[in-house]
Parts: sequence; structure tokens; C-alpha cells
Amino acid sequence: MLPTEDWGIYVHIPFCEARCTYCDFNTVTGMGQAEHLRYTKALLGEWQSETVPEGSLASVYFGGGTPSILDPVLIGHVLEALWERLSEPVTAPEVTMEVNPGTVTAQKLASWQDFGVNRLSIGAQAMQNHHLRALNRIHDVSMIRQTVCMAREAGFTNINLDAIYGLPGQTLQEWQETVDGLLHLGPDHLSLYALIVEAGTPLHRAVERGQAELPDPDLVAEMADWAETRLTAMELQPYEISNYARAGYASRHNQLYWRLAPYVALGAGAHAYRPGRRWWNVRGVRRYMDLVEAGVDPLDGYEDLTVDEEMREWLWLGLRLREGVDLRRFFQRFRISASQVFGGVLQELEAKHLLCEDGHALRLTPRGRDLANVVARALVDAPPDMLVQDSRAGDVELKDQSCTGTD
Ligand code: SF4
Repeated sequence: MLPTEDWGIYVHIPFCEARCTYCDFNTVTGMGQAEHLRYTKALLGEWQSETVPEGSLASVYFGGGTPSILDPVLIGHVLEALWERLSEPVTAPEVTMEVNPGTVTAQKLASWQDFGVNRLSIGAQAMQNHHLRALNRIHDVSMIRQTVCMAREAGFTNINLDAIYGLPGQTLQEWQETVDGLLHLGPDHLSLYALIVEAGTPLHRAVERGQAELPDPDLVAEMADWAETRLTAMELQPYEISNYARAGYASRHNQLYWRLAPYVALGAGAHAYRPGRRWWNVRGVRRYMDLVEAGVDPLDGYEDLTVDEEMREWLWLGLRLREGVDLRRFFQRFRISASQVFGGVLQELEAKHLLCEDGHALRLTPRGRDLANVVARALVDAPPDMLVQDSRAGDVELKDQSCTGTD
């Protein structure tokens, strides 16, 4: 578990070689080295005017976009600038680089190592070339294998692989081949995401026109269940709804998000958080660079979060973790117990076998994990008349609710 005073830095690199059909991230294609350099300078400019949070830096995360598209020297400049403004960290922070297998060379890997990158998150997505082509990925299966091989040779000991299930036309057997193919590469961490067809993407248009057919939801659920059984047997433990890790390799960065820890965010469209406020930069890459160069804050908007909203977020984000929400930490942060504030909705979710209480932890049941979006919606939408004063006091039935065997 991360200490509460830990914080992180997210650095958004928006450049991609081509647009994947399912992607709705803030990315641009067609920009070259001159723009990469200009953008990196803007990142450094933004960092100089950031207020550094108190506590210990736990993680730096280069996400995108495709951070691995950049000349590694630019990554080095960013990291040097980050370290310059920070006092010596107590423990070395996790420094993650998102990597597209179509953009990697042995020289880049060696440079990232030298600059202090110590974790790679490689977007594999599928282990069949026809699926990679359909998604407009810029790499094939052999490049995924080669990237992992070169990364190990370069000395990386913490490697995540991303994959997507529920692809158009994907069979259970293909998904099994993907998972086994990734396992064969010996990852330390796997992120397995169910495909979400986002409005405005080429994939969304293809589905609307009947040119791409999504698998049946029952098959998608079967894919998730099969992967969990397989990975658990291979000692990659599920520690979050979509994430599996060998012991000691859970992503520190994602845990910051799930535990509502503060994080600084640099770059176009990047979102930052401190207790009580979330804010984000302008999305346009050129606009972002113009503003920073003119000495203007690239802020696009912010949202002040009430204590009530933060408590809800704390619960539904924490419930994504297998260990669940530590109710003592909830009390430490908000000076009130979760049951005093959310007794009504928690009671309702427990009665539906979606939640359970186990010692000091509040967790999703197996059924709750399948319906995690329903739980999140219920927690976010609970109307004020469901916020009751410790409605569960003396409710023996609820305290007997087991965290296992409910589904
Ligand atoms: S490489 Fe990643 S960020 Fe770029 S378009 Fe594809 S999915 Fe989106």
C-alpha cells in the first residue's frame, strides 16, 4: 500500500504515427522532430511554473499518444528538469514509459535506461496480425516479441503488456492465444481492457454502419473470466479490475489514481488533481505550445470537488482494487465513517450481493466486479435522501455478508 503523502507526475506526449481505429485519446499525427522539440520545451516551461506537492514523488508516467516516438534525448531533458526541482526522493520513483512496438530501437531502450526510465508499458493489444491491422496498429506480432526481447536485453526488469478483448470478430480461442502469447513473453504486469467503442472513432462508425461486429457480451465476460483463471494460475495476481501483476510489480502510478493521491500533469489536455480540485490543460497541441511560450497558463478548465464528491470517488475508485477500500483510511481522510455517510447505498449494494465488508475492507464481490459500472453509478448518483446516519448499526445480516462465494 502506498503512503498517503505519495504523489505523481503525468507527462502527456500526444504524438502518434497513425491513429488506431478505437482511440479517442488526445493525440496528433503528422508532427515531426521540430514540433517534438518545441513541445518538449513547452513541457519544461509548464513544469517551471507548477507548484510541487508536499510529500514523496512515487511515480513519473510518460503517457500518450506515443512517448516512445520521441528522440530519447527529449525524454532525458524532461526527467532532468523534473529532478532539478525536487528534493532527493526517499525511494526511487517508478518511471514508466508507454511504448508502441512499432517505434522501438535498441538505442532508444538503452537511452531510456540511462535517463532513469525503469518501467515499460508496451501496447501489444492482440497477438494476431489480422486484428492488429484491423485496429490500424503500426506493428505486427513479431515486433511485439522483438520489443520485449530487446527490452529485457537492455536490462528492463519491470514490463507491462497491454491487450484488448472483445475486438470485432474476436473468438475465445484467439483471445486465449493472445493471453498465452503474452504470457510466453514473461511480463511482470498485464493490463487487459475490454474494448470500449468510443463515439467519434473510426471503429464507432464501422460498428454503426454494420462493417464491424462486436462479440456477444456473454462471450466478452467469458474472455475476462478465462484470462483471470489463466493468469492467476501463472502467478500474475489480479489487483485491480483490469490489472494483473507478479508479486511486488503492481503499478505505483495507477495506484495513485485509484487512491485519490495528488498528481501533477504536464502537456496538452493533461488532467491534474489535488485534494479538492481537478483541472486540465487545453487539448490542442499547437495552442498548448503557443500559450506556454507566451508565458500564459495553458489551463482549460477546473472542477472544485466537494467533500461529498471526493468521498464518492474515493469509494468507487478504491473498489476497483482487489483489496478494496480501507475503511480506516476513509475515516482518517474524511473524519467520518463511510457507513455514516453512505449507509443507505452501501446497504442496498450489499443486499444485491455486489459489495461485501471484510474486516476493515469494503470490497466488490465477484458479481460486483462484473457489474463494476453499476456500482460506480450507484455511488455517484446516490441521492441525498440515501445519505443516512449510520443506518447499518446493529445490522447483523450485513456484517455476516461474505466476500467470497456470492457468485
Ligand atoms: S498508438 Fe495509442 S495513443 Fe496513438 S492512436 Fe494508437 S491507441 Fe491512440
